[in-house]
Amino acid sequence: MDSRSRKSANRKTAEQAIRFLDAHMLDPIPSNYSFAYLYLTGINSTLRKTVDVITCDGVRLTQQDVDDLMDSTAVSAASLNDEQDARLRHQALAFAELSNAMLHETGAFNRDLTQGVEDISAGADMLTILRAMVARTAEVERKLAETTRETERLRLDLEAAQDDATRDALTNLPNRRAVDREMQTLLTKGARITVAFCDVDHFKAINDRFGHAVGDRVLKAVAETLQEILHPHIVARFGGEEFVALLGDVDGETAFALVEKAREAIASRNFRVRDTDEFIGQITFSAGVSSTLDDPSEALREADHSLYEAKNSGRNRTVYKADGMRAAA
Ligand code: GH3
Ligand code: MG
Ligand code: MG
Repeated sequence: MDSRSRKSANRKTAEQAIRFLDAHMLDPIPSNYSFAYLYLTGINSTLRKTVDVITCDGVRLTQQDVDDLMDSTAVSAASLNDEQDARLRHQALAFAELSNAMLHETGAFNRDLTQGVEDISAGADMLTILRAMVARTAEVERKLAETTRETERLRLDLEAAQDDATRDALTNLPNRRAVDREMQTLLTKGARITVAFCDVDHFKAINDRFGHAVGDRVLKAVAETLQEILHPHIVARFGGEEFVALLGDVDGETAFALVEKAREAIASRNFRVRDTDEFIGQITFSAGVSSTLDDPSEALREADHSLYEAKNSGRNRTVYKADGMRAAA
């Protein structure tokens, strides 16, 4: 699936999820939203069947039903990843089966040809043997073309599955899993790892005042600006209203300046509700920047610590600790 059709499929699912929550009079909070998402996409078939049974006579789901189902079928984000892992494993097995089948086919073909040559040497009718060989060659070519098409289809499926597993559905940014992977890659390259932890300020209040759908749009807008300004570095949605930027081989001061630029760009905008034009006002985020040459998890911890400091010293600011000194703006 290309990124535009994925975006449009994600948007459609998001709209369906909101209608689903409305129909069941469930609050549009993230956990309910995840539940609706899992149900609508059918990722978790047990959950889907159970909900269909409960609601088959037009019965509404209660919050208790949702909470129980989330617990009992363990449909957390982790299980979503398990599903995706299973899909990846399945694809890998399918690949292996295809290669084995082709090896088997090639082996049989070689044997047939050898037999044909032996038959000719033994004085069998040349024309009959050659006809049989041509027919056999055409058959193998047909099978090979079929396998090539099937392999291509599987390759595309595999790419899509890998992409889904490392991408956040709302913002289309890489997710936490992608950050972990990228960190490992940078570590093995021996590159400097500079990270920025950005957390939207008082985001809960935006949800409370304007609703979850508006909150989602704000998250998308923040995601877009961060991505635009920090390009070509990786910006990922780490969870909720938290974003992580990974700036490989960039020093802390440069990263600090870039994050500040993004923070100012977002803080200088006046956000409005798209449908009603209602004034939302200023959206800000706080950030912590950290830079290391060795331990990526330490870099994240350090950045998180600086973020905490940015929150505690008034929000809408970036804190960067260099050699024990903290720079703040
Ligand atoms: P602080 O300045 O201290 O960071 O305050 P905050 O309100 O931003 O932080 P808090 O952790 O209290 O609230 C985060 C909120 O983000 C709570 C949660 O409902 C909301 N949230 C998490 N994920 C999503 C999402 O995908 N969409 C929407 N609309 N809200 C989300
Ligand atoms: Mg937070
Ligand atoms: Mg926050």
